[in-house]
Amino acid sequence: MSSTYAVVNPATEQVVAEVEMADLARTDAAVEAAAAAAPAWRAVPPGERARLLRRFATLVEEATDELAELEVRNSGHTVGNARWEAGNVRDLLNYYSATPERLSGKQIPVAGGIDVTFHEPLGVVGIIVPWNFPMPIAAWGFAPALAAGNTVVLKPAELTPLTAIRLAELGREAGLAEGVFTVLPGEGPVVGDRFVTHPLVRKVCFTGSTAVGKRVLAGCAEQVKRCTLELGGKSANIVFADADLARAAASAPSAVFDNAGQDCCARSRLLVQESVLEEFLERLQTAVEAMVVADPAREDAEMGPLISARQRSRVQGYLDEVDVAFAGSAPDGPGFWVPPSVVLATGTDQRIWCEEVFGPVVAVLPFADEAEAVALANDSDYGLSGSIFTNDLGRALRVSRAVEAGNLSVNSHSSVRYWTPFGGYKQSGLGRELGPDAPHAFTEEKNVFFSDAS
Ligand code: NAD
Repeated sequence: MSSTYAVVNPATEQVVAEVEMADLARTDAAVEAAAAAAPAWRAVPPGERARLLRRFATLVEEATDELAELEVRNSGHTVGNARWEAGNVRDLLNYYSATPERLSGKQIPVAGGIDVTFHEPLGVVGIIVPWNFPMPIAAWGFAPALAAGNTVVLKPAELTPLTAIRLAELGREAGLAEGVFTVLPGEGPVVGDRFVTHPLVRKVCFTGSTAVGKRVLAGCAEQVKRCTLELGGKSANIVFADADLARAAASAPSAVFDNAGQDCCARSRLLVQESVLEEFLERLQTAVEAMVVADPAREDAEMGPLISARQRSRVQGYLDEVDVAFAGSAPDGPGFWVPPSVVLATGTDQRIWCEEVFGPVVAVLPFADEAEAVALANDSDYGLSGSIFTNDLGRALRVSRAVEAGNLSVNSHSSVRYWTPFGGYKQSGLGRELGPDAPHAFTEEKNVFFSDAS
């Protein structure tokens, strides 16, 4: 029996859509349709597959405002961010549209014949998406997977299915045959779990919490199923005394409060060298208080609401345990609002310091020297991203090599570009997405030896 899910606008608490949730039978039918579509899709000539993906990108570009408006309404993303996210889907499709003609193997010297390798598509790829970045995370999976010749079944998060549903329609309009790219709104333990257990799904890309990711990995192990995990984070922003403090303080709020802190890369641990702590905090306070936290549809909004009442009470639970040193503003009235909040941590065993809050909260801790900064940054089960502010080139090199995280930036916070690899150390994930090598993660490398004996 299928059921429906009421999608809520987090800025108004109004229901904006009722979405039909796939049950097991519909999931199985979609996986079978994707498997049936796979041979024809992989046989599409490379140049034609590339053209279809570019056409898909063009339709996404033309629908930018519509997709952005849907995301503002469904996820409470600021309209500026939402337009960027739709543009990210377009860019991913264009970037990976160059894959089909370039997915070459090798010719390896051997005696008695020739040896060649092929990158064969896996078949059906299942993609499980969280609610925090519905469009980009979906496309990080489906664009390289499709480009490498796979068919895709994709499950958006229960809370945020609207843009994914629209993207699937645009894919069909672009000319993708039925079954090549299917979006299945549904519950994690039903649709997501079926991607893990269904033998025709040959790889699962999971982005979400570390707790669910571990279960997905264990489930995939049953069939030795390929699995990529992008999980949680508790990333450090390390500010050394020799840094440009004005720049470091001005950029620290957006590094953690963008998307209301619901970002796996949020720099939610702020490590500041103790000799400049006071000056840094003064500058940070000015920057935090200046943030425009407002109706996300407003062009000047810098931060919107949290995704749900549940997420707000989760975040509030962390804040209730500590003293907030200073905070920005948040609108009154309906919506799941929490002001951007700065907490002075008192120890590394505090929950606010070591657990992923996934809300607009940053914890600050001073450090004495470089060795302590690195030790504190690495004292985490996570290792997704991080930032290092210093004007000492040698220190930037040493610290960026020493911090155990997959994505670091020096004197900036930019860490996710579609053409550079992205993924986590430790419990932040397994495997890499994006960048030039991503299509290989959606293929099996096959080696064939041709004897020259006749
Ligand atoms: P979640 O783990 O609860 O859900 C993620 C997705 O998994 C959803 O689509 C959900 O329906 C599905 N799911 C739930 N139970 C499942 C099951 N038993 N089997 C298969 N699928 C199941 O996470 P969330 O609350 O939606 O997202 C927040 C988390 O995601 C945070 O911890 C955040 O750090 C992480 N995240 C990580 C990255 C990254 O790239 N590393 C990016 C975004 C979010």
